[in-house]
Amino acid sequence: MSKLPNIGTSIFTVMSKMAVEYNAINLSQGFPNFPVDERLTDIVAQLAKENVHQYLPMAGYTPLLSKIAALVEKSYGRIIQPESEILVTAGATEGIFASIQALVQMNDEVIILDPSYDCYEAPVLLSNAIPVRVALNDDYTPNWTRIEKACSSKTKMIIINNPHNPTGKILTQTDFEALEKLLLKFPNIVLLSDEVYEYITFEKKHLSAHTRTNLLNRCIMVSSFGKTFHVTGWKVGYLIAPEYLMTEIKKVHQFLVFSVNSISQVAISNYLDFVSVDEIGGFYQKKRDYFRELLQTSRFELMPSEGTYFQVASYAAISNENDVDFCKRLIIEHGVAAIPISTFYADRKDLHLIRFCFAKDNATLEEAAQKLCAI
Ligand code: PMP
Ligand code: GLN
Repeated sequence: MSKLPNIGTSIFTVMSKMAVEYNAINLSQGFPNFPVDERLTDIVAQLAKENVHQYLPMAGYTPLLSKIAALVEKSYGRIIQPESEILVTAGATEGIFASIQALVQMNDEVIILDPSYDCYEAPVLLSNAIPVRVALNDDYTPNWTRIEKACSSKTKMIIINNPHNPTGKILTQTDFEALEKLLLKFPNIVLLSDEVYEYITFEKKHLSAHTRTNLLNRCIMVSSFGKTFHVTGWKVGYLIAPEYLMTEIKKVHQFLVFSVNSISQVAISNYLDFVSVDEIGGFYQKKRDYFRELLQTSRFELMPSEGTYFQVASYAAISNENDVDFCKRLIIEHGVAAIPISTFYADRKDLHLIRFCFAKDNATLEEAAQKLCAI
């Protein structure tokens, strides 16, 4: 009998596979298609010849832990302890999985805000716990009244994703105040804050949950070097959490992977000596603006995108089909792959929204836009 009877193949896998099959431009799964910084690939080439091929410490390469602490201090002014409050993980996905497995017990409830990224629900189900899906407002802001109504003594965890995949929405100061007020009423709830796009923000500034005095004692923050350094395939991320939570998470991590692959950890650590994360927001803001400009004459209606490298668009003016069928037809008939937004919800099949990834070189964006404008 299946332990996950209702979980199928990830939509990102399905759409990327179809894009290859039909030779379509792949704006579905989120990954950059441009070359990685040569300074980083040079480090890797050099490291491959050195003796960095064996296990690293379970919690992460020691210099990398210190450099993450330095990055956090530079970005947010918060001082964290590298040995006890940081864990290098095999991508954010493993960090999320380990956190949920470590902290969520049988019959606990975990609040997931829809639309939600797809890696939260399975680890909750595998803990024999209950995912409670609460919809965001129509403008994708959190509905704190609705979230509070869903909270009870059974609630163990609330998962937030900021900046938000797929909508690009960023939480505001007012959101955090509401969240803090809510968590004061429920002292046992742990906050899992997925911030893999923390450095990919545009006009608005990113507020990080673990830097809030009222939250830091119960917050696990998740990040991913895959997003920050355009190396999604390396699967290197990290967690920041208070020691009492981290001790439990490390118990799971040590038997999931023990330690994360050595070359990429050492490479990122060396790269952090001279690279800055300050430019990535501006870099993707230009891509967002260019892509939006290219689509101006199309029949797609573009939603705001405040961060991430995703653009949500309505195709209501083009078709009445459901978004999964529309995406399939978009690949087969028009040669462009996108992600249907209904797959980010527990039970919404009535949407006419799709997500494009604009982390692509300009030629790809231009070619895709030409096809999209012709529909
Ligand atoms: N959370 C969100 C919101 C994501 O979009 C992604 C993926 N791309 C992840 C987590 C997983 O990150 P990683 O590839 O580092 O495991
Ligand atoms: N996070 C990526 C996205 O949203 C997908 C990563 C994956 O395929 N697991 O497109």
